[in-house]
Amino acid sequence: MGENDLILDLVCGMQMVTDKAKATYTYNERVFYFCGMGCLERFKNDPEKYIEREKEGRIKWEET
Ligand SMILES: [Zn+2]
Repeated sequence: MGENDLILDLVCGMQMVTDKAKATYTYNERVFYFCGMGCLERFKNDPEKYIEREKEGRIKWEET
């Protein structure tokens, strides 16, 4: 991934470029990016919950 790739914070749904992410977390060999430590902590507490939401399409990318 490049420094300006767009990513999605699975906890709050915020989109940002990777170099604006305040926290990262590797889970199941995938790197997740977060807007801040609050979202990171929430994700760490229950990663599967957020990954399931993403799979179900409940966390959506905004149309650009
Ligand atoms: Zn967030």
